[in-house]
Amino acid sequence: MTGQVLPLVARLSADEEREWLDSLNAELAPEVEVRALADMSDDERRTARVAIVANPDPAKLAALPALEWIQSLWAGVERLVAEMPADGPKVVRLVDPQMAETMSEAVLAWTLYLHREMPRYARQQARRIWQEHSLKTPDQQTVALIGLGNLGKSAALRLKANGFNVIGWSRSSKTIDGIETFSGTDGLATTLSRADIAVLLMPLTPDTRGLINAGTLGHMRPGARLINFARGPIIDDTALLEALDSGRIGHAVLDVFAVEPLPDDHPYWGHPSVTVLPHISAPTTQSTASRIVRDNIRAYLKTGTLPPTVDLVRGY
Ligand code: NAP
Repeated sequence: MTGQVLPLVARLSADEEREWLDSLNAELAPEVEVRALADMSDDERRTARVAIVANPDPAKLAALPALEWIQSLWAGVERLVAEMPADGPKVVRLVDPQMAETMSEAVLAWTLYLHREMPRYARQQARRIWQEHSLKTPDQQTVALIGLGNLGKSAALRLKANGFNVIGWSRSSKTIDGIETFSGTDGLATTLSRADIAVLLMPLTPDTRGLINAGTLGHMRPGARLINFARGPIIDDTALLEALDSGRIGHAVLDVFAVEPLPDDHPYWGHPSVTVLPHISAPTTQSTASRIVRDNIRAYLKTGTLPPTVDLVRGY
């Protein structure tokens, strides 16, 4: 016996949609049943106040007239923010401590990859070159987290726990034990100028689109490295390719791109100073995400309280 029926509005493969429905229903039953939108009656559509979404078609959301808020299954919501009308339902993004763990593991892994110069030794092996290079200790490497939110802060702390000298930049000023932090335009220049490795972990918004460009890359130390685990359009690709070609930027680890999948003919694929990853740094973990969604929906149904919502003007 179920109470409320809530729609899942998603552009996913049939298998992925089925897996999400099973995972969500395992958590939400028996009070709530989550159902694919196509399987809901007209009456259920008319009265649904919450929808769970993953890359939803905005027209399908518009056909749910009583919708008060939507719960995204993803952490990044720039596409939703761009597509939702200003008077549309409020947007709740996924904030999952497990995702912060997964992302901080990725940041540590790829920071170590750069710190231990794995791309350089792989290039040497390809040419049968036996040559050692001097090794810095982690505390001699400054790693800058550009974005200190749910993911960036956790990554910063994990790097710190592994001995790196960590600094960070965010929109509003922050105090994090053991980490020097900066904010504002001058703060970005200072942060980048001190980084041996810069890790992008801020959302894509009108303010961050193209933020890593010829000017800001120019603040970085010669040979500094860049990791982008945020969103592709934050980087001006032409400027980054120029900086890589000239050796001004030593290497870039890129997990996200303006167009995904990265087109076959894109210069990043074959560039000796680029590591291309297929958007894998922090996938949503279905089990923990389903529990977060359950808690958000239960609290709302019990008390009417919405979880923190995305600021549609600020863009995150
Ligand atoms: P979040 O909690 O909202 O944190 C965003 C951080 O960026 C905050 O520190 C924020 O500053 C800062 N920021 C935002 N706009 C800024 C600006 N204009 N100037 C300076 N700092 C700015 O987001 P999150 O959960 O950490 O996620 C960050 C992003 O990671 C997501 O938006 C998504 O694009 C990306 N992501 C990627 C993957 C992947 O697999 N590659 C997976 C998940 C998420 P304040 O603290 O001052 O607000």
